[in-house]
Amino acid sequence: MATHPLASRVRFILVEPAHPGNIGSAARAIKTMGFRDLRVVKPWVETYRTDEEAVAYATSSVDVLEASQMHGSLLEALEGVSFAWAMSGYDREFGPAIEPVREVSVKARALLEQAEGDIAFVFGCERSGLSNEDFMVCQGCAAIPADPESSSLNLSQAVQIMAYEMHMAMLSEATVDGLYDWQSRFEGEEPAGSVATEAFLEHFERAMIACGVLDPAKPKRFMPRMRRLFSRTQLTMPEIDLLRGVCSAILQPKQQRIGQKKQK
Ligand code: SAH
Repeated sequence: MATHPLASRVRFILVEPAHPGNIGSAARAIKTMGFRDLRVVKPWVETYRTDEEAVAYATSSVDVLEASQMHGSLLEALEGVSFAWAMSGYDREFGPAIEPVREVSVKARALLEQAEGDIAFVFGCERSGLSNEDFMVCQGCAAIPADPESSSLNLSQAVQIMAYEMHMAMLSEATVDGLYDWQSRFEGEEPAGSVATEAFLEHFERAMIACGVLDPAKPKRFMPRMRRLFSRTQLTMPEIDLLRGVCSAILQPKQQRIGQKKQK
């Protein structure tokens, strides 16, 4: 097999794609670059795997189209993923910091070598792109630096470019300056990933309500700001465990917990 040994840990996720033709094209785009794992979240046409247009655009990559998994939510599609990049042509106020795809690919390869788990590239709907919610469950944001006059690519063409850059980064022996700092971030400590991070944020929100920092009737932008702060730090799994310990202690002080155990 000609594909790179790390390629099986790279996922391409399409969120709410409207046109089955684009799903077929995306299947072809990733297969030509040695990738196989295509995920589709809430497609407009649920029978896309056998859709005439999808099959026609997939051509020799119908196997990838047929094997693609369909999910009910982005979080479900991110199960087992340790780092996800939202694909977008422009920055958002509360999303992760935006970086060009070439740099992202080099980091993504380093991450595959350093940490366990899959990585994912997440693409939005043709019409409206990714929602803010989808954006915020990703740890990074990758942009194809297109012409500012016309910066939005067709969905499957964006998939093709990301797949190409990732493929080239995997073939390359080169690393970029400063990468080692970033790499060492995850040395020995598993990155937290979206599922664990969402569970922590939910725990954190409950703790903040319980101690009176957050008023659920007037939440303002407390949680989006906290989310942005935590996403900038690129949390690891042990850090999530530590923070969840703090949340548990806020929700129920240790003394009380000890007391309860004694009562039993
Ligand atoms: N009208 C939408 C664009 C949808 S294009 C919008 O304004 O957001 C479909 C998807 O392709 C986008 O959600 C994004 O994931 C990807 N895409 C398109 N152009 C891109 C670019 N320049 N950089 C990164 N991703 C891009």
